[in-house]
Amino acid sequence: MRLILLGPPGAGKGTQAQRLVERHGIPQLSTGDMLRAAVKAGTEVGKRAKAVMDAGQLVSDEIVNQIVAERVDEADAKNGFILDGYPRTVPQAEALNRILAEKGRGLDAVIELKVDETALVKRMEKRVAETIAAGGTVRADDNPESFKKRLVEYREKTAPLSAYYARTGELRTVDGMADIDDVTRQIENAVAAATAGA
Ligand code: ADP
Repeated sequence: MRLILLGPPGAGKGTQAQRLVERHGIPQLSTGDMLRAAVKAGTEVGKRAKAVMDAGQLVSDEIVNQIVAERVDEADAKNGFILDGYPRTVPQAEALNRILAEKGRGLDAVIELKVDETALVKRMEKRVAETIAAGGTVRADDNPESFKKRLVEYREKTAPLSAYYARTGELRTVDGMADIDDVTRQIENAVAAATAGA
C-alpha cells in the first residue's frame, strides 16, 4: 500500500503515520525526519538544507525528490510506504509520479487531514512544552516566527495539492480536528475504501 498524508504543520500527520506503520507494517517516510537526520550527520544535503529549514521555508524540490527516489528503493519500502511531508509542491507531486511510474507503481490514496488553522499554533506550542518536559531537544523551526512561515509556505505551495489530487481522483479527506483515535478510524476507512476501489 502506498499512501500520502497531506496536511499543514501540526495537523497530526506524524502521529497518524506511526499508527499506520504499526497496523500495516510499512514504513513512514518523512522527508522532514530524513532532512533533520542529514543536518545532524553534517552531510552535503544537510549543510544545504539547514538554514532553509530553520527559517521555515521549503528545501529545493531537487534535493527532496532525490532523497525520496533513493528511499523508496530501499528493501523495507518494497511493499509500500506512508509518505509524510512529501510531496509538498505540485512539481514534487509530478516528480513522485515519475519516480513511481518508472517502477511500474502507483499510489493507493492521498489522505488529507483537514484542520482549523487557529488550532495549529497551539498544537506546536504544546509539542514544544511536552518536548521540554520530557528533556528532549526542541526543533529549531518550532518557534512562532518559523512556524508562521511554515503555515504560509503550506498555504501557498502545498495546499494546491488538494486540488491536484482531487483531479486525479486519489484524494480522500478526513477531519483532523476530531480526537486522535477518531482520526485513525477515519483514515482506516478511507484506506479501505481506496484499496477496494470505491
Ligand atoms: P512540519 O511539521 O512543518 O510539517 P516537517 O518535519 O515535515 O515539518 O518538515 C520540516 C522542514 O523540512 C520543512 O519546513 C522544510 O524546510 C523541510 N521539508 C520537509 N519536507 C520537505 C519537502 N517535501 N519539500 C521541501 N522541504 C521539505
